[in-house]
Amino acid sequence: MLKLDFHPAGRHFLQIPGPSPVPDRILRAMSYPTIDHRGPEFGALGLKVLEGIKKIFKTQQPVVIYPASGTGAWEAALSNTLSPGDHVLMFETGHFATLWKKMAESLGLKPEFLGLPGIEGWRRGVQPQMIEARLREDTQHAIKAVCVVHNETSTGVTSDIAAVRRAIDAAGHPALLLVDTISGLACADYRHDDWGVDVTVSGSQKGLMLPPGISFNAVSPKAIAAGKQAKLPRSFWDWTDIIEMNKSGYWPYTPNTNLLYGLSEALDMILGEGLDNVFARHERLAEATRRAVRAWGLEIQCADPAVYSPVLTGVMMPEGIDADAVRKTIYERFDMSLGTGLGKMKGRMFRIGHLGDCNDLTLLATLAGCEMGLKLAGVPVAASGLPAAMEWLASQPQTTSLKVAA
Ligand code: PLP
Repeated sequence: MLKLDFHPAGRHFLQIPGPSPVPDRILRAMSYPTIDHRGPEFGALGLKVLEGIKKIFKTQQPVVIYPASGTGAWEAALSNTLSPGDHVLMFETGHFATLWKKMAESLGLKPEFLGLPGIEGWRRGVQPQMIEARLREDTQHAIKAVCVVHNETSTGVTSDIAAVRRAIDAAGHPALLLVDTISGLACADYRHDDWGVDVTVSGSQKGLMLPPGISFNAVSPKAIAAGKQAKLPRSFWDWTDIIEMNKSGYWPYTPNTNLLYGLSEALDMILGEGLDNVFARHERLAEATRRAVRAWGLEIQCADPAVYSPVLTGVMMPEGIDADAVRKTIYERFDMSLGTGLGKMKGRMFRIGHLGDCNDLTLLATLAGCEMGLKLAGVPVAASGLPAAMEWLASQPQTTSLKVAA
């Protein structure tokens, strides 16, 4: 473990695609004293966060909050709706889709992994027409669920969930739609109800700007009905008692009180800024990042501009250059953390996170650190990316105004 005998001046730049930096306002809210989770004060907090979080998922249905990381909420989504041996259709978009598929196998489900050849799926995201074609073949309706990742944190590709819904409907197939938006929520537009999603899985440590430790399942009436027949073993993850007790703002076990204080503050911040402003801010920072990467002469991992992620940008390294060596240089020289390449992309790319509590100047400092680090690590850089990013940001109106009245 790295042990420092000095305090590095300034703030660490945590530019991985989650956990994202936690704003001081949220850290302070989390430092309130822990209270009785069965007392009256807690009930008010519980009701506030349970109601508020629905606005972020754009749902009128229950959102279950677990004291767990996102992986737990993945398991909850599968174990509450499916039975041993059930066939599920998943799409290979990247490392996280692969991990969810492995989990499905270990729970005794039979996942089928659709995908494009090689790493194409890791560069283009979900292909709804492939899902439709596969569901049309399944005339006996053996497939019980379609599982897709909305924002693949390992690649920087965002898939079109509304199009997946249309594909399922076009095939006339009754499969449930389960979606992971662990890194997409509160960064990219997401509509649990309008898109007919049955279970949406998310987590605290990305767009919600909280530390890791709570995760979510937004559930449709169809998912709740499926749960009544689902035979996978579950106890802690079972929705039934949680949803019942949540009606009065409480949980059947000890909830994560201080993280819920943080969630309450995060909801005030996000809804105060306005969800559409939050999405537009992410889009504009992402575009500035891509302009810088192109000016450097480097390739963006996402190969289809229609599905560029507003959350993070994957930067491919030229042949023969180890992306992790570049990250190490940047960490050691500039106290900045960037995301490592995961799974099939290990060593071939790094990921720049531009999510959560990030603004123009945070992003420019991040890009400056990347640019200096690339040069120090010996990566050929065609031109400076900073002017390209700065011109873009200066040319675009701010998503929210700090204008002082005259
Ligand atoms: N799914 C996606 C898209 C993720 O980005 C992550 C974590 O980064 C996970 C699942 C797993 O979540 P956790 O690490 O919180 O268990």
